[in-house]
Amino acid sequence: MPGPETPSPVTSSLSVSLRPRVTVNYFHEIALKGLNRRMFTRQAADNLKRAIQDTDSRIVERRDMGATLSYPGDAKWPFMAERLERLFGVERFARAYPVTLSMDAIRETVGALLALVALPKTFRISASRADKSFPLTSPEINAQLGAWVRRRTGMTVDLDDPGLDIRVHLRDRTAWLSLEERRGLGGMPIGVSGRVAALLSGGIDSPVAAYRVMSRGCPVTFIHFHSFPLVEGSSREKAKELVDMLTRYQFRSRLHLVSLAEIQKRVLLAAEPDYRVVLYRRFMLRIAEAIALKEGALALVTGESVGQVSSQTLENMLAINAVMTRLPVLRPLVAADKEEIVRMARALGTYEVSIQPDEDCCSLFVPPHPVTRSTPETAAAQEKDLDVEGLVSEAVANAELWRAAWPERGPAG
Ligand code: ATP
Ligand code: MG
Repeated sequence: MPGPETPSPVTSSLSVSLRPRVTVNYFHEIALKGLNRRMFTRQAADNLKRAIQDTDSRIVERRDMGATLSYPGDAKWPFMAERLERLFGVERFARAYPVTLSMDAIRETVGALLALVALPKTFRISASRADKSFPLTSPEINAQLGAWVRRRTGMTVDLDDPGLDIRVHLRDRTAWLSLEERRGLGGMPIGVSGRVAALLSGGIDSPVAAYRVMSRGCPVTFIHFHSFPLVEGSSREKAKELVDMLTRYQFRSRLHLVSLAEIQKRVLLAAEPDYRVVLYRRFMLRIAEAIALKEGALALVTGESVGQVSSQTLENMLAINAVMTRLPVLRPLVAADKEEIVRMARALGTYEVSIQPDEDCCSLFVPPHPVTRSTPETAAAQEKDLDVEGLVSEAVANAELWRAAWPERGPAG
């Protein structure tokens, strides 16, 4: 089957030329941003450029709410589509054919396009008009073009679940025809919101939490706590693998690997067993806050949800959160149940990594009945024999930095 990019395009009396472009439409929420809108669309275009840097395509036109890209050829198109599918801020994208704004030209091009694909039994025309200068309304285009396609191909119309959806978008005195339009991720382009630092365990919840905040345009720095050398270091490899997966949504990542081993040994000696988990968590937040401030992050992110485990009763969350001095803690999953979180993790692809067994630093030395109703005061009392500040700055100083980049070409930052 000749590809639509064949050197001698299909022509006719109207000189219909089947030269596709790739059209990208930004998520509608960007349009609501008033004065920030220019900044949002600039960031969206910058991100787009990075996402397609090694796909043999480039931006040929920037629009307010989208962009038009050159078509990379059939061989590269699936690869490029995968990139666009992972780009926050994109509402939809398509391989689309620009046609002169006339019903004759539209019909002829649709006919030429249909000749290139295996026809299913049913179809639908989906017209939309950003350019209102065209004399026909969208329903009129649907009806006229639909009748023509039906006569010509024998396909029948199915508005709900068509085998083929023929899209006709009218804008800028051009009709953009497409047989395959795909949904993007939506959300906000990475970089339009401030940086956050996410506490990434190796569990199911925290990668999902980080992803949710990314979808609001926040670049994420990752922090993982491990108990090496008290235990083997497999949780670190898991954290790296998860960061690699999440980096596909934000281009570059920094992961701070922090050993909690020394602190855990001290807590073991100085505090009541039932308080260990709460104290580990308080240290994690203090260390994470210090790293976040150095990274220029404006908030921490955790995968906590109320009541899920003993350390996540509201009482314990209060006792743990009390150590935060400057930054807020964002908890995107706070009211989600485990089933919903698992569904999101599966869709994201992190689930399979998260369920691999590892030695989590919080499962170490955990008593049979950890406290469920601590308070900031009782927790602080348990820390009275610990050099909290010293332990925190030592852990921060010994943290290792690991970087990831995607697409892999180009320096990691
Ligand atoms: P997760 O599935 O994310 O591990 P969880 O349901 O197991 O969550 P906890 O283990 O209580 O719940 O952890 C709550 C949150 O604390 C995690 O979502 C994560 O943000 C943070 N956290 C826990 N352990 C670690 C760790 N080892 N390194 C970094 N952050 C951690
Ligand atoms: Mg966990």
